[in-house]
Amino acid sequence: MEELEAIANEIKRCTLCDLCNKRNNAVPGEGYDKARIVLLGEAPGKNEDLQGRPFIGMSGRFLTKYLEKVGIKREAVFITNAVKCRPPNNRKPTLHEIETCRPYLLRQLNTINPSIILAFGTSAAASLGLKFKHLSEVRGRKINIKLDDKTFDCFVTFHPSFPMRFPHAREQFLKDIKTCLNIYKNLPTT
Ligand code: SF4
Repeated sequence: MEELEAIANEIKRCTLCDLCNKRNNAVPGEGYDKARIVLLGEAPGKNEDLQGRPFIGMSGRFLTKYLEKVGIKREAVFITNAVKCRPPNNRKPTLHEIETCRPYLLRQLNTINPSIILAFGTSAAASLGLKFKHLSEVRGRKINIKLDDKTFDCFVTFHPSFPMRFPHAREQFLKDIKTCLNIYKNLPTT
């Protein structure tokens, strides 16, 4: 879709925050332009920065495997991040960086108009305007959010890097993805 490409081209040239200084490539996101589900991560990592594509490193492969377990193909969704440029040494993006980058995310969401946004981790949840102290306050349930006068359903779970590193969280991560999918399909969630 032309609008998504136009947004991506702006992101690739963007110098609105300091993250532009050390990036190799901005990572606007990729996927189906009419996706019903948008996956939202935190920020590009080393591999993503080198190739300009989201979720292609270790946690990306982990995520793809878990999406396949519930029958979601990457080609059927749109995948992006709260910030589009890699923070140095993979640190968490600051709130200022998230807020500076948010207009691009909002434009992507308005263009795609998904049925549900599956947000991974605290930075993704913060970029959707959710207020919380601990992820557990917003994790694992459908939340209706208003962005730019438009409402979206979102569902927050762990960032895939967490269950990848801590196997005890994998069952819950899978359950969350299944629950999100059932909400999207309007199926019972228990
Ligand atoms: S992180 Fe976002 S706001 Fe910052 S330079 Fe990259 S595209 Fe621009």
